Amino acid sequence: MLQTVLIKPASGLCNMQCDYCFYCDEAAKRDVASYGMMEIETIENIIRKVLKQGKGNICFAFQGGEPTLRGLEFFEKVIKFEHKYNIHKCEILNTLQTNGFCVDDKWCRFLKKHEFLLGVSVDGTETLHNLHRHDKNGADTYQKVRDSIAMFEKYQIEYNILTVVNRQVAENVKEIYKEYKQNGWKYQQYITCLDPFGEPQGQRPYSLTPEIYGQFLIDLFQLWYKDWRRGKAPYIRQFENYVGILLGYPPESCEQRGICSVQCVTEADGSVYPCDFYAMDAYRLGNFNTDQITDFFERKESKQFVEESKKWSEQCKQCEYFSLCRSGCRRSRVGEKDAGTYRNYFCEGYRKFFQVCGANLMEIAKYVSEERS
Ligand code: SF4
Ligand code: SF4
Ligand code: SF4
Repeated sequence: MLQTVLIKPASGLCNMQCDYCFYCDEAAKRDVASYGMMEIETIENIIRKVLKQGKGNICFAFQGGEPTLRGLEFFEKVIKFEHKYNIHKCEILNTLQTNGFCVDDKWCRFLKKHEFLLGVSVDGTETLHNLHRHDKNGADTYQKVRDSIAMFEKYQIEYNILTVVNRQVAENVKEIYKEYKQNGWKYQQYITCLDPFGEPQGQRPYSLTPEIYGQFLIDLFQLWYKDWRRGKAPYIRQFENYVGILLGYPPESCEQRGICSVQCVTEADGSVYPCDFYAMDAYRLGNFNTDQITDFFERKESKQFVEESKKWSEQCKQCEYFSLCRSGCRRSRVGEKDAGTYRNYFCEGYRKFFQVCGANLMEIAKYVSEERS
């Protein structure tokens, strides 16, 4: 059953131009870079098919590019179709991942009314954010994004802060953590910055290295741990997932599961791909306008995608941290040609992080477990 579907109503189109945009890179590597704006018939097919097979909780996650470019009328139709086709009376959650560059009161009233959960992209402080996140003319974007966040707060719309961990963000995370705390940002998600697909890692001005990434994780964790001891820690997705793993729960974050899953990322023309990081022609699994949902999962490309992620390197299998690390996200893994296996580019960073912070992670897990019992 498909419980979450990721939808790109404006394909990869965006009103911003960030230096490290992984989706621009992927789109440029397809036969058709942009599928333009999603037709109403396509979104109707998606919602109808997802709700027909759905039970319990269903999440429609809108993302891009910048999904708000598709316009408010489109999203009003989304709500209409969700009501019309919700034959099993599912609990529906709508989420919207936005750069916060172009929202107004009208948008806010709509998002509040229909209880959208937002993910807003902010890369740390004003200087750090403006370093790589520009508008189409190369101008700064931070202030506009902060104005949008102020509006979300005014309208009491729930939002998470999504921060891309590029080299400069990683190196300045102490300053960032302090500022996020001052801003009262309690829900934070740190997303590893990706280098262009197929390119050797660590070469770009924004690129992470294993060492920088490892130190970032340690610095952030130690600040978070200090606040945890005071009972004042924000929600940081990656750390919460590590604690969950230690408690025996499956991680909700895909990157931390060790095995890829087919997430049905849906492009504007209805084409389906297994993951946002693999929305390219060779990975295409079908189309919502012509196929059934079961077809996406039954295709050999779908099975291959999952199987490939199980080829952990021998070092990972022998690693004392494997149960926590699980070799990280497949997109950051590097092939080991002779063995036909993969090892994570950030391995040394993960290793150092678990060495330094593993005991404290276990302490938190033990505390949570005792509290629950
Ligand atoms: S806002 Fe997002 S989609 Fe737009 S250019 Fe930046 S990273 Fe890419
Ligand atoms: S590539 Fe990463 S995010 Fe995508 S399905 Fe695999 S583990 Fe998940
Ligand atoms: S720390 Fe390195 S060797 Fe260990 S599981 Fe993670 S990627 Fe594999």
